[in-house]
Amino acid sequence: MKITVFGTGYVGLVTGTCLADVGHDVVCVDIDQSKIDRLTQGEIPIYEPGLESMVLRNVEAQRLSFTTDARKAVEHGVLQFIAVGTPPDEDGSADLQYVLAVAATIGQYMNDYKVVIDKSTVPVGTADKVSACIAGVLAERVAEFDFDVCSNPEFLKEGSALEDFTRGARIVVGTDSDRVADLMRECYAPYNRNREKLMFMSVRAAELTKYAANAMLATKISFMNEMANLAERLGADIEDVRRGIGSDPRIGYHFIYPGCGYGGSCFPKDVQALARTASKVGYQAELLQAVEAVNKRQKSTLFDKLSHALGGELAGKTIALWGLAFKPETDDMRDAPSRALMERLWEEGAVVQAYDPEAMKECRRLYGERDDLVLVADRVQAVKKADALVVCTEWKEFRTLDAGWIREQLSHPVVIDGRNLFDPEAMANAGIDYYAVGRGKTM
Ligand code: NAD
Repeated sequence: MKITVFGTGYVGLVTGTCLADVGHDVVCVDIDQSKIDRLTQGEIPIYEPGLESMVLRNVEAQRLSFTTDARKAVEHGVLQFIAVGTPPDEDGSADLQYVLAVAATIGQYMNDYKVVIDKSTVPVGTADKVSACIAGVLAERVAEFDFDVCSNPEFLKEGSALEDFTRGARIVVGTDSDRVADLMRECYAPYNRNREKLMFMSVRAAELTKYAANAMLATKISFMNEMANLAERLGADIEDVRRGIGSDPRIGYHFIYPGCGYGGSCFPKDVQALARTASKVGYQAELLQAVEAVNKRQKSTLFDKLSHALGGELAGKTIALWGLAFKPETDDMRDAPSRALMERLWEEGAVVQAYDPEAMKECRRLYGERDDLVLVADRVQAVKKADALVVCTEWKEFRTLDAGWIREQLSHPVVIDGRNLFDPEAMANAGIDYYAVGRGKTM
């Protein structure tokens, strides 16, 4: 099938590449000329395991190409995926300007029947807006060109995006048109062979499904963080509690790890946007508001613990940071807990000495050259001559730690573990002041 994908970010690039990989003829279009230039030269602008070789293979096979030429892109595909960003507006609602700009472009260059597919995460009712926008641009040509708009939210996770796209639990399609359903079935047929994964539903239900999924996952995290904060105050180890509740099949072990708060490009903005959607229809989404408030508070716990452990004296201190990305296997630092911590530390006059396996370039892009940010080549360099160590991301290479060696490196024997990677007893035995989440020393 001829397919066009608008946006070559995490979702657009993965969608376009995976669809090309099963034989579709895909054109990916972006307004960012430098991104398209890099992609055309075989350089992948984001870090996502396995993506680079898949892109190169499909470009080589001439099934995947990149362009900034919107007319060419619109004319190419019968399916037009919109996978551009939907960042939060000032009031927390999803900002639809990029999605609607693409809709207008599709209307402008429409040359035949098109299915316009909202893959970006968009509030309930957006498909109607996209439809109205295209019809508005088509104006008197609206009778000439037929088109449909459907919802096909994306559930991939950064870090395992290819696996999630190709072997995901479900493919949700919101449409009331048989013609669209048939085309979407054809598009996803290669990924739907062993088990029926396509779920057809109304457009509004599909749009809400994406927000409900992210809100549920964010709720699990905030719930566990709330329990961890309680455990700390009650003298219980949250890791025992986690195992104790996870063994109940109604609860399960997935996604119940306490930590230093959720980040990334989706949970924070989607929880906020859903709460805004609720208030627009006159409903106070109290649970969602609490999920967000707990998360905000959780992100400050790393700083609070560090400040407590160092007696409130942070000015002039060098703090080693392991992990900048909001989670492992990505270079994405959007809303990462590391950022909340670094920004607080800089306010207090501390120097951050950080290492991350993939996000260093992104960190430099975000913060530029500054005296209080030292990026080093590995985790060992990060702790050299540092006063204390904070772990923000659970990259595999951080999971082992020679407590005795760490004790020797740090001028203050303080380790703040935002991901519960280490054994509190071993750390205490090595003479380290070890603070974790819901275990270890308490404030
Ligand atoms: P991103 O910021 O990485 O990429 C968006 C891309 O769209 C950018 O390259 C930008 O230049 C491009 N763009 C903007 N306007 C354009 C236009 N008019 N024409 C063509 N390209 C244009 O975003 P992302 O992380 O890929 O997210 C995209 C959407 O998917 C969002 O709604 C997000 O909530 C949703 N989503 C993201 C993830 C994730 O893990 N990142 C997962 C599921 C869903």
